[in-house]
Amino acid sequence: MTAKLYLEDPYQREFDAEVLESAGGWCALSQTLFYPGGGGQPHDRGHLILHGDAVPVSALREDAAGRIWHCVGRDPVAGDAVRGTIDWPFRYALMRHHGLMHVVNTVARQHFGGVITGVQIGPGRSRIDFKLAGFSREQIPDFEDRVNAVIDRGLRVTSSIISEDEYRRRPELIRTLDVLPPVVGGNVRIVEIEGFDAQACGGTHVHSTSEIGRAHVGKFDNKGKDNKRFYWDLTA
Ligand SMILES: [Zn+2]
Repeated sequence: MTAKLYLEDPYQREFDAEVLESAGGWCALSQTLFYPGGGGQPHDRGHLILHGDAVPVSALREDAAGRIWHCVGRDPVAGDAVRGTIDWPFRYALMRHHGLMHVVNTVARQHFGGVITGVQIGPGRSRIDFKLAGFSREQIPDFEDRVNAVIDRGLRVTSSIISEDEYRRRPELIRTLDVLPPVVGGNVRIVEIEGFDAQACGGTHVHSTSEIGRAHVGKFDNKGKDNKRFYWDLTA
């Protein structure tokens, strides 16, 4: 299985690893900073240094055994040493937007009775869908103010691991309707915003809500009576 360095320290940009296996232009590594994608967060960009050449990583996937495969268009030999570098501006933008989506999700639930149905995180704009009966366009400024008030509190964002049994006993940690719980080896990762929210999540986030920046709704769509789609933008 590949050690997920991005969960241990999402601010790290470079790493060293060993090739576990390769096939068809993809290689699995002993450890990686490359987020493979999932939970609405796109995979990381960047490159691997293989035998002195910087090779772009064009795609990623995680297999059932927990190995993360990097598409590099060549097949290094098992045991080869590689150095990897992620595209930091892209990743950091995703970390800010991912933190924002936790805040938006919780404000929607606490103040407007919203239930999240989907999310797509982007480096410049993120989309989030809710079942949100009765919400109208006129309420957007209030929604934005509440989200920015949480950001301004500078709350710490931390992660921890709990057992699957404890997770099953705490249904409030499950937030999406259509995504399976991220259970790995009997454990679930919980991401907590200090004194505000805790939910199961396997993505990368900023360490404080103050890093998120100023948030506003760039676009809003009514998708039927109850389903609402918001596009959130950030400024520094
Ligand atoms: Zn998350």
